[in-house]
Amino acid sequence: MSKTKDLAAIENMDAADPLRAFRSRFILPEGVIYLDGNSLGPASPAVFAELEKAAKEEWANGLIRSWNTAGWFNLPLELGDRIGRLVGAAKGQTVVADTTSINIYKALHAALALRPDRNVIVAEGGSFPTDLYMAEGVASTHPGTSLRLEGIDAANLEDLIDDKTAVVLVNHVNYKTGALRDMAALTSKIHAAGALVIWDLCHSAGALPVDLDGAEADFAVGCTYKYLNGGPGSQAFIYAAHKHHGGIVQPLSGWWAHARPFAMEHSFAGGEGIRRFQCGTQPMLSLRALKGALDIWDDVDMQALRKKSIALTDLFIELVEARCGKHGVVLETTRDSERRGSQVAFSHANAYEIMQALIERGVIGDFRAPSIMRFGFTPLYTSYRDVWNAVEVLKDILDNSAWKNPRFAVRSAVT
Ligand SMILES: *Cc1c(COP(=O)(O)O)cnc(C)c1O
Repeated sequence: MSKTKDLAAIENMDAADPLRAFRSRFILPEGVIYLDGNSLGPASPAVFAELEKAAKEEWANGLIRSWNTAGWFNLPLELGDRIGRLVGAAKGQTVVADTTSINIYKALHAALALRPDRNVIVAEGGSFPTDLYMAEGVASTHPGTSLRLEGIDAANLEDLIDDKTAVVLVNHVNYKTGALRDMAALTSKIHAAGALVIWDLCHSAGALPVDLDGAEADFAVGCTYKYLNGGPGSQAFIYAAHKHHGGIVQPLSGWWAHARPFAMEHSFAGGEGIRRFQCGTQPMLSLRALKGALDIWDDVDMQALRKKSIALTDLFIELVEARCGKHGVVLETTRDSERRGSQVAFSHANAYEIMQALIERGVIGDFRAPSIMRFGFTPLYTSYRDVWNAVEVLKDILDNSAWKNPRFAVRSAVT
């Protein structure tokens, strides 16, 4: 077995890190090692500057005029294009609006409308739950439509796809294990069966390079409050490939999707292209926070990001196994870095308590039922030294059974 890296090696890795300057663009509280940017990204001075400008100048002084003069009306499309660069989407195919859950609803309906002679939605039993709940909701309003789930109706997603399948809703990176799907290969299999695909990018947008256009994907959705750092509850995005723009039909046909919103016509006429996936007025303050966050992303080289992400997750796995392995922590994420997102999961019978003990000591990850400790690695503000220090704290908690204190067993609503 090769020798585990020591502190000197880790300091060298930080010194040679081409992304290290980005850390100063985020606000990270003293004494915190933040390994939960895959759930809620941190704040930044850039975000606060946008919020202040939008509230104090554009809203307070500009009032209603700011919809035109401050570019508010077009902001969902403008920010969509900027996210497009990060997910491999050429301009005009991505818009920021609503939540991921709502966008899944729109995308599923749009896909079903494009495949009227088919009535099956295929998804993953191990999907992030909202995807499944929304698919159930769509099926309930779409007579004759049924759901087939990987892990329940068959072991592999591929075996569920046939000539009845209208659409496959699939997570690019699994939220629990961090497993990364091969987007190009799976999309091409789905197309070969005559079906369409919706990629959920919640755990890959801003985590690794994505190439929606290159994979010839049909639709995609994703969050902006996780790796993209848009702020709590910042709006989600939705992508529809140009090839489908003529035929987009989605039932949330609000006035922002209309071809002429201010003509105040009495019936709906869908607007051009991706605009048709909007519904109603968007929270502008939240969008402006996202704009500030994306100003940082405009400067990021996604290949360098991926390289560091793999190095961080490899290092964490190596150190946890070497130092904490005897305490019964089990790796739930693949060792194959090519098939791994930017997160690492370890399971343990007392995962909840251990995570609470970690959080009390400033190492913030999260717990996912029933037994997973999840750690997100965000290359823009996480150093190799952070990884080292986090593992030292974990080791101390396990070596001393500190997690056995009853206060760590108390459950909060959000884990
Ligand atoms: C976080 C997450 C969501 C969240 O959906 P919201 O509607 O924004 O709450 C959806 N899908 C996946 C895969 C996620 O990880």
